[in-house]
Amino acid sequence: MALMTGKKVAIFGIANKRSIAWGIAQALHREGARLALNFQNERMEEPVRKLAADLPQDTWLGPCDVTVPGDIERYFERLGAEFGPLDGLVHSIAFARREELGGDFVDTSWDGYQLAQQVSAWSLIGLCRGALPLMAGRNASVICLSYYGAEKVVPNYNVMGVAKASLEANTRYLASDLGPKGVRVNAISAGPIKTLSAMGVADFNSILDTMAQKAPLRRNVDQADVGNAAMFLLSPLARGITGQTIYVDAGYSIMGV
Ligand code: NAP
Repeated sequence: MALMTGKKVAIFGIANKRSIAWGIAQALHREGARLALNFQNERMEEPVRKLAADLPQDTWLGPCDVTVPGDIERYFERLGAEFGPLDGLVHSIAFARREELGGDFVDTSWDGYQLAQQVSAWSLIGLCRGALPLMAGRNASVICLSYYGAEKVVPNYNVMGVAKASLEANTRYLASDLGPKGVRVNAISAGPIKTLSAMGVADFNSILDTMAQKAPLRRNVDQADVGNAAMFLLSPLARGITGQTIYVDAGYSIMGV
């Protein structure tokens, strides 16, 4: 039997076939999970609907922009009524204005800082709160996507590095809060991958090159590497793991000089 047979997982953050969330969806689908997706707004409905057509026919789809008041609550209310209880939640969303992802960190604006925190870090709390009634009593698992810029300075990552530091701290606090309810919460710190969001970071290609040269495995990671690790963390095989940041970065983060 496949690892995720009979499990239902909601995935936030599929924009296109390059999205890390798409790699996660592929791995979950392969292992038999039933999936629910979101699209951020009307403009994104059609592209996400087309992608969902590659998944099983009973994939559920609903609108949710984490910055729109009431959207998270509406999403989970409808999900509960139409899709049922949840065994897993994938948070694969982030946003910062392009002008905050380059230049001097000291120039970060309050607006830009707030927006990056809201979409990229606070939203994990919002989604967990919204999903909790659907996850209770099911040994559910939540994962989110972080990056090395949370703990070390990565040129141009700037405001997003600080948001990822919050996201990793949120992961630990949520794991402590939700553990007694049987819900695990973990982060994956993924190596750099060429996606729509990543291309917003100035000089992103040089980050990719450095990683491929210096990582112990001498390569970049891809969506499938992250998708398989995410599937493991969402599966019962990882039932003893919570509150952790797991690196899927070809080993880059262990290197000193
Ligand atoms: P992506 O394909 O562009 O995915 C980002 C997703 O965030 C998109 O689906 C986007 O939706 C969604 N999003 C942005 N603002 C939102 C909002 N207000 N409400 C709901 N959804 C919103 O890029 P990705 O690289 O796969 O990113 C996924 C996650 O992995 C992010 O947390 C990212 O920081 C993290 N990560 C990426 C890398 C990398 O190198 N690519 C490395 C480590 C971690 P729209 O497209 O509709 O705006």
